[in-house]
Amino acid sequence: MLRSARHLALLLALLTGGSHATSLPDPLYPGLGQPGLDVLHYDLALTVPRPGTPWLQVTTTATLRAEQALDTVQLDYSGPDILTVQVDGATVPYTRQAAPPKLVIHHALRPGTEARVTVTAAGTVTGIQDATLPLRLGWQSVPATSTQPGANFAFNEPDGARSFVPVNDHPADPATFTTHLTVPVGVSAVASGTRLDDRTQGATHTVTYDLTVPVPTYALAIHVGTLDEVRRPAIHTPGQTISWTDYFPTSTPADLRAPYARTGDILRTLSDWFGPYPFTSYGSVVVTPALPALETATLSTMPVRSSRERVITHELAHQWFGNAVPLGAWSDTWLNEGFATYAELLWAQAKSQDPQPLLDAWRARLTGGTRPLIATSPAHLFDDSAYARGALALHALRTQVGDAAFRAFLHTYTRTRQGHPTRTADLLDLARTQLGLRAADTLTRWVTQPDLP
Ligand SMILES: [Zn+2]
Repeated sequence: MLRSARHLALLLALLTGGSHATSLPDPLYPGLGQPGLDVLHYDLALTVPRPGTPWLQVTTTATLRAEQALDTVQLDYSGPDILTVQVDGATVPYTRQAAPPKLVIHHALRPGTEARVTVTAAGTVTGIQDATLPLRLGWQSVPATSTQPGANFAFNEPDGARSFVPVNDHPADPATFTTHLTVPVGVSAVASGTRLDDRTQGATHTVTYDLTVPVPTYALAIHVGTLDEVRRPAIHTPGQTISWTDYFPTSTPADLRAPYARTGDILRTLSDWFGPYPFTSYGSVVVTPALPALETATLSTMPVRSSRERVITHELAHQWFGNAVPLGAWSDTWLNEGFATYAELLWAQAKSQDPQPLLDAWRARLTGGTRPLIATSPAHLFDDSAYARGALALHALRTQVGDAAFRAFLHTYTRTRQGHPTRTADLLDLARTQLGLRAADTLTRWVTQPDLP
């Protein structure tokens, strides 16, 4: 709810904010990311000697560019002890800052120059308490039990990546990733992207993955554990062939593996609505802790209790909305969650189900209160308005303009915004130019009106 003129002023500032990485600092997370820093690529080498325990060694090489003069390079980091910091191969001094947690590298960059920053760290990773939700973000450790070997994985949205790697930890600075995972022989290691290599050296092996499409730091998948690798038939969409592999902890029962077999059909349905799938591979990795599901790039992280078609559809939709089209500010999470929630209705309709129960359920989630779609507090990021009101806004737009125009609009949005940090204003601009003033007004009402339109 809008409660005061001050809130209205903040809302308007959020709504009209820039759509570029230089829009940092973030309105809701002003400590995250360094204005003027653009990380192009991360090369991460993680060694996990005892899966299930929180100790790791990680060497991060960030290829970065200064968009403005920088006196120091300031990466978000609250991870284990740092052993060395180098810039272009030369050791440089650094300091660690507690609030906001930063690794400050004392190396100045002139505007337009590039550098390779290499940071090696090792130690125990404990994760970060989320600002609003009762969960710890970042590197997860799942201890071995009598029935299940130990596992580790990354669970980073919104700002958990900094718990174990130094990063420019904001979705407005998406990057490509090469990830090398060194684990004991017999243990699986998977990450976002395409597997390039798997080399055994004595008792360990190193698996390398390459992700060539830029994604936010929170969207990088990393999983280490004893996993069944289930290779599926390639998924064919018009003009694309997408490889598909799912990973299950060996203890996962057959009935909880079954829904994942629909992934190929769901991907074809969503691709028809959203446009070409942004990557060349897809799959899910099932994890045992009771966390929310997470849309990690090319490889969604699916808690075993979330193994349902509806959740599989939701996370797959985020490959377009959130991963390929990154947020420009955390206040716009509805651009991720509204589209991903709406995908659940599109899949239900593709199976000839009546969409009305879903629409009713979304309205019911908002009877206790709703808010304009642009978040004004971290507590809003993953609330019912971001999901259900966001989905209802898209349905209102579709109902007004018709399926063909709505589909064309979504195709243009994903094509033109891919790799570009995106704000609500960008979506409204496109609605105005492609669908006309009346359609843009409808969407604007859903975005800005305090109560449900
Ligand atoms: Zn979501």
